Amino acid sequence: MDFLFYNTKTGKKEVFKPKDPSEVKIYSCGPTVYNFAHIGNLRSFLFVDILRRSLKLAGFQLNQTMNITDIDDKIIREAIANHMSVEEFTKPWTERFFEDLKSLHVDLVENYPRATESIHDMISIVHKLIENGFAYEKDGSIYYSIQKFENYGKLSHIDVSGMKSGARYDADEYEKEDVRDFVLWKNRKTEDEKAWETDLGIGRPGWHLECSAMIRKVYDSGIDIHTGGIDLLFPHHENEVALSEGAFPEEQFVGTWLHCEHLLVDSEKMSKSKGNFYTLRDLLDLGHSLDAIRFHLISVHYRSKLNFSLKHLPESKQAIERIQTALTRLLKDSGYLTDSEVKRAILEIKKEVTYQSFSKVIVEFEEALKDDLNLPKALASVFDFVRETNSALDQETWSIDLKKEAVRVFQIFDSVLAVLRFTEPDVGLPTDLVQEIEMLIAKRAEAKKNKQYDIADKIRKELLEKGITLLDTKDGTTSWKKSP
Ligand code: AMP
Ligand code: ZN
Repeated sequence: MDFLFYNTKTGKKEVFKPKDPSEVKIYSCGPTVYNFAHIGNLRSFLFVDILRRSLKLAGFQLNQTMNITDIDDKIIREAIANHMSVEEFTKPWTERFFEDLKSLHVDLVENYPRATESIHDMISIVHKLIENGFAYEKDGSIYYSIQKFENYGKLSHIDVSGMKSGARYDADEYEKEDVRDFVLWKNRKTEDEKAWETDLGIGRPGWHLECSAMIRKVYDSGIDIHTGGIDLLFPHHENEVALSEGAFPEEQFVGTWLHCEHLLVDSEKMSKSKGNFYTLRDLLDLGHSLDAIRFHLISVHYRSKLNFSLKHLPESKQAIERIQTALTRLLKDSGYLTDSEVKRAILEIKKEVTYQSFSKVIVEFEEALKDDLNLPKALASVFDFVRETNSALDQETWSIDLKKEAVRVFQIFDSVLAVLRFTEPDVGLPTDLVQEIEMLIAKRAEAKKNKQYDIADKIRKELLEKGITLLDTKDGTTSWKKSP
């Protein structure tokens, strides 16, 4: 079966045909690093992770990029308020973003370019736009004239007929009803604003320019897939198309546009400005585990709204436990857990198994993902297989070889889900306890980062009382062991 994606540009599900399957080019709008990511943001990053893992499982080789927006109106405002340079202000928030990704088992992509390191690329796009007649100067700033771009509005399907000629916007974000020329390069207004001295004048880039420039910088061409949250469709992505296709009219900018729906709270979009948000740390403080959070955020299809409620997290935890319990039984029964070198044994399964016996469930799982990343459907196959495993183990109908093959099936599932455990010491302990330990370790890392060493020490002691010894390295705690 081909890979199918719902392409926002055409409003249809289409067969995915990358220009070069040995290097699929994917760009995702990344975080603005001025605060903690909330779980709505994290949902959109987990969607990118599911996209990546599913395409990899289908055999594509990827060259993926997620930008870090480390300069925009909000960042400048906050840096000034905190008496910091933009670099000092954004550095810890960028680090936290990567910690969140690591905690949620997000597979890192190949490139994470920073906006502030791509100024040169932005300037050259503005020059191209001036050359091609799309940009004009007004009061020291440079704007994009959307009337000059014939296809303006085609991506987000907005009606541009009421558009006011020559009306402009300096702000990075605005509403759909307010279609106007947008700023490419902003003239510096006050001395304390971060600015670059360039041949366009002293100033800074507008947000929409950043992504077009970073795509050019990394790929030097158009791309196969562009992703982002649905809130970015207008004006951000519409403006990106106008920018890139205006500057490079001979190329197709993006083949497939994918947009992830919002995470809602009480039917409203979760957002920092509304104050109705949870961060990962908030949920850990409430006693929820990272695996349950990951599972919950990925288990709803990316094109459906996810109405978040704390009460769903225990359900996610139970769902993982159901899968893990069957897998742990299987690992024990197949002899992997009695092997003194479990890790080596697990690696061997990957090589030797042909998984003919379970090809049906594997095909079902893969085809659900190929059908526009239908993870809920893929999960149905996982739970069917959990039932099949439990009943085969109860009735002792599987040979040792079949059990080993079945372990491999779970490995395939987990190459996308990333919530299961295959090796000791984890599988030797109840999943509950493992999750609690990992939650405490994450809290301790957070406390250490905030220099709350008393809290960090208290957590270490609490773990010791449970018989857990932490192995700290200079990069933080990387492992732990349980005393017999
Ligand atoms: P930001 O850090 O604000 O630039 O946003 C990063 C990503 O999170 C963007 O792709 C947004 O579209 C996405 N996003 C923001 N709020 C939500 C939400 N409530 N649900 C899902 N995605 C969101
Ligand atoms: Zn973007």
